[in-house]
Amino acid sequence: MNTVKDIDPNIAKTHAVLFDTWFPIEQLPIPPAIAPDIANIAAQVSAGMLQAFSQSGFFPVLIGLTYPTKLPFYTQLQSSQNPAVQAFLKATGGYGGLAVCDRHPLFSYLFDGDLAVVTAQFAMIIREAYLSGIWDLPLAVPITEIQPPQVFMQNPEIYAKRHAPVLPPSHLRYDAATQTIQHQDGAIDYLVIGSGPGGAAVCHELQKAGKRVVLIEKGPFVVWGSMDTRSYSRLLFRNDQASTVTNSVIIRSGETMGGGSTVNIDLAFSPLAATIQSRIGQWIAQGLLDAEEYSPEKIAVAYQRVRQDIGTREVSQDELNQDNQVLWNGAKAFGVDPSLYHLNRFPTGLSPSPVDDKLDAARQLLRKAMQDTANPLGVICDASVDQIQFTTESDGKTVQATGVALTINSPWTDYGNTVVDPSNLQIPPGTTVSIAANAVVLAAGTIGTTRVLLNSAKSTPAIANSRIGKGLILHPSVPLIGIFDQTINLLEGLDSATFVEAFGPTPGFIYETMGGLPAYGALLVPGNGQDVYNAVSQFGNCAGFGTMLVDTPSDDNCVSLDDQGNVMVQYNLSEPDKQRFRAGVAIGIRMMFMAGAKQVIIPSNENFLNLPNFDPMVGVVLTESSQADLVEQNLQFIPNRTLLTAAHLQATNKIGLSPNQGVVSTNQRVWNVLTGAEVPNLYVMDSSIFPTSVGANPMQSIYTFAYLFCDRLLQGMEQPQNAIAAT
Ligand SMILES: Cc1cc2nc3c(=O)[nH]c(=O)nc-3n(C[C@H](O)[C@H](O)[C@H](O)COP(=O)(O)OP(=O)(O)OC[C@H]3O[C@@H](n4cnc5c(N)ncnc54)[C@H](O)[C@@H]3O)c2cc1C
Repeated sequence: MNTVKDIDPNIAKTHAVLFDTWFPIEQLPIPPAIAPDIANIAAQVSAGMLQAFSQSGFFPVLIGLTYPTKLPFYTQLQSSQNPAVQAFLKATGGYGGLAVCDRHPLFSYLFDGDLAVVTAQFAMIIREAYLSGIWDLPLAVPITEIQPPQVFMQNPEIYAKRHAPVLPPSHLRYDAATQTIQHQDGAIDYLVIGSGPGGAAVCHELQKAGKRVVLIEKGPFVVWGSMDTRSYSRLLFRNDQASTVTNSVIIRSGETMGGGSTVNIDLAFSPLAATIQSRIGQWIAQGLLDAEEYSPEKIAVAYQRVRQDIGTREVSQDELNQDNQVLWNGAKAFGVDPSLYHLNRFPTGLSPSPVDDKLDAARQLLRKAMQDTANPLGVICDASVDQIQFTTESDGKTVQATGVALTINSPWTDYGNTVVDPSNLQIPPGTTVSIAANAVVLAAGTIGTTRVLLNSAKSTPAIANSRIGKGLILHPSVPLIGIFDQTINLLEGLDSATFVEAFGPTPGFIYETMGGLPAYGALLVPGNGQDVYNAVSQFGNCAGFGTMLVDTPSDDNCVSLDDQGNVMVQYNLSEPDKQRFRAGVAIGIRMMFMAGAKQVIIPSNENFLNLPNFDPMVGVVLTESSQADLVEQNLQFIPNRTLLTAAHLQATNKIGLSPNQGVVSTNQRVWNVLTGAEVPNLYVMDSSIFPTSVGANPMQSIYTFAYLFCDRLLQGMEQPQNAIAAT
């Protein structure tokens, strides 16, 4: 492990110069009274970042910038005539030795030069790493004067001891000799993999019906109330540092008890909303859902149960903070109806925890099931399922799931606020064990379930379906920032409570209020370090909402595995989707101005105003509504030039009428590609089964689909079927 002391001084110099590029303290209009304090804090932040970088996957970037011959695109750079590139290649110590006047031009070239296809991702990774570190709370709080939200209870460890769920003795046993986990009462009826809305709802319903159920969850089990779990990076896939292979979209997905429901914003879209009903209608028309099982009446009854169990509530108009009011007013001025969200949260001020108000799946669905003394839901958290295990019949083709192999992870105990080993199995981390069951329900989410299926397919050809992972839906979103004359204070009061659904069913985009801390805002502001400072230092006057695209599936957009078994997410917008998205962003800009914004920022350093002599290191801020027309004409959504975020991953293991069309049948059983029949006891119930986008924020639909799925299972789902021919 490197300490700052023993880091190569040339690399340390490169870091210092990069820090100065993105936070050019001498040029920033920092109020003189606090300038020395800011300088002191900046020095500490810079040292901390270098230390962190030296132990992270980012360090090779610093090495390459210091010793350019080590860059993967060095020979291509050599052939460039660009003066800044030539200066960079010749400078002793690379970027650290570069003259000030060449620093911005080098980044301009990396973003927009003739090698941009190769270098823009490199430039964006550096930009994101520096801006998110610089604008983290130590510098952001004194500069923006925000009151940061409290993440942890004062003594999370003590809070956790007092409020951890009291669990009955475990019915699970670990046999170290055979490396198997068994249930003391007999065969396990259902193994459920993943505890997001899909998995938690399945556990809740099946356990309530008296089934012997065991849940396996990769992430930690946080004691509810001990922290604000929303968007906490340790509880997200790859520590919230995930993106597509080309860094075209930042991807966010929960990895903790409760899955996405524990980290998300809780915006609850009813599955009866027009935009979702139009999708369900299409799936019924295609025979993918049964018209009776998924009729609006049945969905309404199931959704009512979900709302009751979760505690979904309606927001009232008087709860709206100024940030929500901006989208509300902008939409009204534009001539469309804004709506108030339903939220899975305690009413304002009524949460028993001062730092958390979320009604997530772990709290609302799993806790009670775990506490049933007669038939407790067995839970193995901090454990990753590697693959499903099968028996194969004598025909060599027909398979049946027998259980899963899982590996125990090191638990997250940094704040002492997690329930470690709730089933008291005492299996050392790193150990791989097996657990058998009569049936397996995969609910590990769009990334997790795809990974388990692809891994399992390596040794079980019967499930090696080429459809696994294909047709990924992301709901990419372009966040817009409006800068107002008046104070907005987006961190104050209830965040994210308004949305506009008018364009949801068609052409297919939705506006949603958005907030975030300065470190997130900084990433959205185009241009150089000074441009970012000028915008972020006005944080108190900023409002935000996003344009979210209801995107169209394409086989090129997929989740797959690399040679080491790591997940790769590939995603590019199709031309028709770009066209719809452009129109959506342009309407968003107009609504932001109509709400009174003086400036509007879109997170892009593309030349969307078609300016002559455009430079991506000079930030372009919109100052009048009519510029929306130019954005609509020119924005290309170029990866690493326009920032897109996504948190609604779906549709990689679609319901299909045959293995040629989908990964699971209409009964949500995994297709056997060798026999064309369903694997009788292997199911998927999570966001990955949707044939296309579900049409809006998916959480409530996933809960509702899971309730309907369990109703069907418990009523005795029909026997395994064969694929419908010729689909
Ligand atoms: C930051 C953020 C904000 C969001 N905001 C909203 C919102 O406001 N409204 C809305 O409707 N939706 C929102 N979403 C999306 C919503 O949370 C997801 O669509 C939903 O949680 C998906 O549910 P799921 O059941 O498919 O699986 P997930 O919630 O993804 O849960 C899957 C679980 O499986 C676990 N897992 C994965 N692999 C394995 C394995 N191999 N072994 C064991 N366990 C495994 C994971 O750790 C995870 O906990 C948001 C998501 C995020 C990340």
